[in-house]
Amino acid sequence: MNQRRLAAGLAALAVAASAAGCGTIDPDEAMESIQVFAMDTVIICSIYGENSVSAAFDIEEEVYRLEDLFTRTREDSALSAVNASAGAPVEVGAELWTLLQDARTYSDLTGGAFDITLAPVSSAWGFTEESYRVPSQQELEELLSGTGMEHLHLTANTSGEGGTVTLDPGTQIDLGGIAKGYVSDAAAAIFRDMDVPRGTVSLGGNVYVRGTRPDGEPWMVGIQDPAQPETSNACIGVLSLSDAFAVTSGSYQRYFEQDGKIYHHILDPQTGMPAQSGLVSVTVVTQEGEGTGTMCDALSTALFVMGEEQALDFWRQQGESLHFELVLVTEDDRVLVTDGLESAFTPQEGSGYTFETVS
Ligand code: AMP
Ligand code: MG
Repeated sequence: MNQRRLAAGLAALAVAASAAGCGTIDPDEAMESIQVFAMDTVIICSIYGENSVSAAFDIEEEVYRLEDLFTRTREDSALSAVNASAGAPVEVGAELWTLLQDARTYSDLTGGAFDITLAPVSSAWGFTEESYRVPSQQELEELLSGTGMEHLHLTANTSGEGGTVTLDPGTQIDLGGIAKGYVSDAAAAIFRDMDVPRGTVSLGGNVYVRGTRPDGEPWMVGIQDPAQPETSNACIGVLSLSDAFAVTSGSYQRYFEQDGKIYHHILDPQTGMPAQSGLVSVTVVTQEGEGTGTMCDALSTALFVMGEEQALDFWRQQGESLHFELVLVTEDDRVLVTDGLESAFTPQEGSGYTFETVS
């Protein structure tokens, strides 16, 4: 069996001081660059300005703190306490509470395409433990009887902080489709609190960019070419963004091959199988202050499951109120860019894709 694990699908291209830039660059502006391995991902940040060192320190600490809360594979995480409860109510703090409620919101909005209760199904495929296998139809059917958000019960505390979580026996939670988005929101909050004028945060397909590049131009966020997942600078196009979140979900980000078939990690809640939706990647973009990294993360996973037609219908219905735009890459090499991103998106010439703007 060919087992593969691939890194991020989206990279903030920290193209500094290029000749094309028109602003004035301050040669004395401090810059701190950090790489942290947490949440199964290489997290890369570039942080500018006079508080860059302390902001970098805070972000590193925050990433580890949140990893301790949300990681299913850590026995001592707050989430693991919920998963180990075997049907008993568990008191959780404000952050896990908020993330569970957000997960419920995005599940409701997407008609169940986003589903954090798929944990046992993900484990059956070996995606959680990295021991890949193809479960039988019968095994999947049995597991699916315990999935669905109706098996997760949330009761708010009267204090307004946190609440009680009860899982039906057998039900387990996996926050892998949303937690990195929450971490990117936390990093953005540190940037704001510490007056970081510019910088980038990249967590395995989840990117946050603040301000502009040092030369005054927007940051360039490359969207990975799904056909070349191992070539980190192979892009289908580049987004010019500032003060924004961009999150990509792609079938190329984690998969294994068995008997000539590829099985990837984004599961269809209806079947328990890797979603066969005709899409190979979905990028969700929002401006900071209008939408959140958490939203982009949940939606990118859900819209991947929904497929081109349903995802675009969802954008037409909710894009304006939720403030998000999309770049979809299809199995048949089309790139669909929603019209709010038209001016921000530069297609990669010679990439072999055809590009369409969708309205
Ligand atoms: P992402 O990379 O954000 O698209 O998240 C993919 C991860 O989310 C997987 O590795 C699983 O841990 C989890 N997951 C898989 N399918 C779903 C789904 N339909 N809804 C929510 N989470 C999912
Ligand atoms: Mg996601």
